[in-house]
Amino acid sequence: MRKIVLFLVLVILMTSWTSAFAASPSVAGAKPAIALPKLTSYQQTGVSGVNRAQELSKVRWANHTDAVTGAASLRLVMDVSGPAEASGVVTSAPTPRLVVTVKGTVPGKEVDDLDFDGKIVDKVAFNVSGKDTRVVLDLPQALEDSDYRIFTLPSDAKNNKPFRVVIDINKPLPLPDFSFTAGLQNKVIAIDPGHGGSDPGAIGPGRVQEKTVTLAVAQNVKSLLEKAGARVVMTRQNDQDVFGPNASAVDELKARSTIANVRNADVFVSIHADSFTDRSVGGTSTYYYQKTKYDAMLAKALQANLMDAGNLQDRRANPANFYVIKRTRMPAALVELAFISNPNEEKLLSSPDFQQKMAQGIVRGLERFFSQAAKPN
Ligand SMILES: [Zn+2]
Repeated sequence: MRKIVLFLVLVILMTSWTSAFAASPSVAGAKPAIALPKLTSYQQTGVSGVNRAQELSKVRWANHTDAVTGAASLRLVMDVSGPAEASGVVTSAPTPRLVVTVKGTVPGKEVDDLDFDGKIVDKVAFNVSGKDTRVVLDLPQALEDSDYRIFTLPSDAKNNKPFRVVIDINKPLPLPDFSFTAGLQNKVIAIDPGHGGSDPGAIGPGRVQEKTVTLAVAQNVKSLLEKAGARVVMTRQNDQDVFGPNASAVDELKARSTIANVRNADVFVSIHADSFTDRSVGGTSTYYYQKTKYDAMLAKALQANLMDAGNLQDRRANPANFYVIKRTRMPAALVELAFISNPNEEKLLSSPDFQQKMAQGIVRGLERFFSQAAKPN
C-alpha cells in the first residue's frame, strides 16, 4: 500500500533530504538507482516539533557467495531520509517470513514490491503499518535467528550516503542427503505430542483436551518403538510447555523442532487432534511439507496405517505449511488422529483402546516408511 498523497505532502514537508538519493549502491550487482527529486538544501520548514515520518526512498539488493565456504547470502539496503530504528521478527504462518519494522517511516512511491528467485527470499513487500513501514520478506524456508541480521548505517555526507537500513539473510544450510535402511532398529525417531502445559490445544464438547490425548498416544508410540529397537526423542514427556508457559507459538514450535534437529532424528512425527466448528465433521488426516523427497512418503505411510488402525473417514495426506514439519531438518509429518470437536471421535480419542490402536498405526506407518525409503529410487 502506497499513499501517493501522503508522499506529496511529505515532499513538501521533508527537511532532511540533503543527499539521500545521490548515494550509489554499496553492494555489487544492485539495481540501478531510481531517479527521485533531489533536494540539496536543509530547510527547517513546515510543521516543527511534530514527529514527521522519514521516507524509505530507495531499495537495492545483492546476492553474495562466500568464496571459501560457498555460503550464500542476500543483502537488502534501504535508504531512509533520516535516522530510523529497525527490528525484525521471524514468523511461520501462513508462510515463513521475516517481518522488519522500520519505525517512523513511510515507503516512498518509488519503492515497489520485489520478486526474487526463491533461493533465499521469495518476495519482499513494503506495507504501511500505522506510523511504520513493514517490510515483509516471504522466505522459502524458516529462518533461525542467527540466519539474519538487521542493522542501520548513519548518513555520511562526505561520501554522499544517506541513512540506511540493511537486512542480511543467510541461506539456511542445505538439508543433508538422506539414505534409509529398512526396519526400526536403531532409528532415531522424534515424537512431538502437540500442545501441553499452558496450551491445552483444542477442547472437545465433553471437555477432553487435545494435549492430554496427544501425550497419551505419544507415550504409547514411544514404548512400541523402543520395543522394536528404535531410539525415541520426545519433545515433551509430561503435561508441560516445551519452551515455557504462555510463550509465543513460534518460540514453542521452534523449541520442538530444535529438539529433533539437535538430536539428529531420522524422522519427526507431530501428534495432534483436529477441531472444527461443525461437530459432525470427523476423520483422520496427515500433513507434510515436501522439503526432502521423503516427507510425502512418510505422511502417506502414516495415513494409510492410521486408516487401518482407526477406520475413520480418510481425510488423506496433504501438503501444509505448518512450522514444525517445515523447520525440522528431516522428513516430518503431522498427524491429526481424529476430530476432538466431534462428540463420537472425542470419546474415541479419550479411550485407552483407541489411543493404543492409533499408536500402533503410527508405528506400523513408520515401519512401512523405512522399508519404502530403503528401496532404490
Ligand atoms: Zn493441535
